[in-house]
Amino acid sequence: MMPKKAENCISCAVKLTGTGFTRFPCPDCGEVIGRCAKCRGQSNPYKCPKCGFIGP
Ligand SMILES: [Zn+2]
Ligand SMILES: [Zn+2]
Repeated sequence: MMPKKAENCISCAVKLTGTGFTRFPCPDCGEVIGRCAKCRGQSNPYKCPKCGFIGP
């Protein structure tokens, strides 16, 4: 089952609460991707769960 809205960080799966996290659509397919402040700050790579796009 695929969530419609990104509730968790795509990289570390932490719940996205408070401030500092970001949500953005996949550049390739538009799937909403969420990233926590930590992974964002470290520029951890992410992979789109839908199309497999890997981005910074
Ligand atoms: Zn994270
Ligand atoms: Zn995608």
